[in-house]
Formats: sequence, structure tokens, C-alpha cells
Amino acid sequence: MNEIGERIDRAARLMGRSARDVTLIAVSKMHDAEDVRPLLQAGHRHFGENRVQEAEGKWPPLLAEYPETVLHMIGQLQSNKAEQAVAMFDVIHSVDRPSLVKALGKAIVKLDRTPQFFVQVDIGEEPQKGGCAVDKLPDLLQKCADHGLDVVGLMCIPPADTEAAPYFALLRKLAEQQGLPLLSMGMSADFETAVMVGASHVRVGTALFGARDRPG
Ligand SMILES: *Cc1c(COP(=O)(O)O)cnc(C)c1O
Repeated sequence: MNEIGERIDRAARLMGRSARDVTLIAVSKMHDAEDVRPLLQAGHRHFGENRVQEAEGKWPPLLAEYPETVLHMIGQLQSNKAEQAVAMFDVIHSVDRPSLVKALGKAIVKLDRTPQFFVQVDIGEEPQKGGCAVDKLPDLLQKCADHGLDVVGLMCIPPADTEAAPYFALLRKLAEQQGLPLLSMGMSADFETAVMVGASHVRVGTALFGARDRPG
């Protein structure tokens, strides 16, 4: 935890940024409540999950104990889980298509609850990872506005085994063009690079919790 925080701090300072402007999301998917508890006890408050059902099983008792926790949904989201996701999460990073926007908009009204949203961009043209195609981004953002989603930024997962920095730079350029202030980018292998390119949120699992049993 401290080591990751120090690495974020160093990368931020190199760029003349403050580490306070970078939120470390501890990605606790596939780790159980007992793995998460030490971080909560140490004062960490931002956590990421990639499956609604797993989060529903793990988090309610922890949230009762640590109500100021901020839960982030970082995984692909099915429209039929939109309502559960809006009920459970404070920030949803994976908005990527009109049908999901519509379902989220309905859930916001029904539950009278307004999480923040990031639109996920398919930055490396790898549709299997989810994300909105770059050329469809303006239309999708308009749809988000029409359905009352509070979009605060863009999110991406760059292609594996390539240099991530150019993809992070492209996401930053797209966010600037759209007037969006926040960038959710950077994972265990590349979060310092992401911070140097301007990430506001890094999503770190393995480097904090160790390896997961299954690929996530
Ligand atoms: C699992 C996951 C992460 C964390 O990945 P690590 O390499 O374990 O740090 C970040 N973002 C998303 C979308 C993920 O699914």
C-alpha cells in the first residue's frame, strides 16, 4: 500500500503534479473480505470490483463498518445489471454503449441515486474488452447527457504487451476535446506511466493484493 502510494507520489511530482490529485483504486476482485479489511483499517477508502454479484456478496458488511468507502465498478456491465450496479457503486467506469446508458438512466431515476460515470473507450480497437469506439464517443456522451448520467471522465484498458503511454496520451487528448476533467487509466504494470500522462484514477490489483487465481 505505502509502496504503491510512494510510487504514485514520485511519478506525480516528476510531472509537477500532486499525488493528492491521483486516486488509487485498490482492485479487490477475486479477493475476499478478509484480504480487503487490512486496507480499510489502514484508512484506504477507494476500492474496485469488476462483477456486480461478487461485490454484492463481499461489500455490504464492510460498507456497514466503513460507510465512507467509495466503491468503483470497473468491469464490463450488462444492461440487466444496471440497476444493481447503480444501487451498489459510487462510480461506474465502464459505460460504453447506448443500451447501457439507457438502462443506467432508468436506474438513476428509479433509485434516486446518482453515481459518477466514466465512459470506457476502446482505445486499441479491441472490441472484446468493451469500450466505445473512438469515432462514436461524441454521440455516446450526448446520449449520457440526455439520460441524466453525470459523466466525469474517460477510462481505458490499453492493449497488453505494448507500450501503454501512447494510448494513455490518446485518451487524454479525447478527454480534453470533450471537456472531461478525469482519466481512469493505469493498472499494476503501468500506473506510474499513467500518472505521468495525467491519470486522475489508477486501478491497481495485483501490485497491492498479489496474483489472482483466475485471470480477471
Ligand atoms: C483487474 C483490473 C484491473 C487491475 O489489474 P492489475 O493488473 O491486477 O492491477 C484494472 N482495471 C480493470 C478494468 C480490471 O479488470
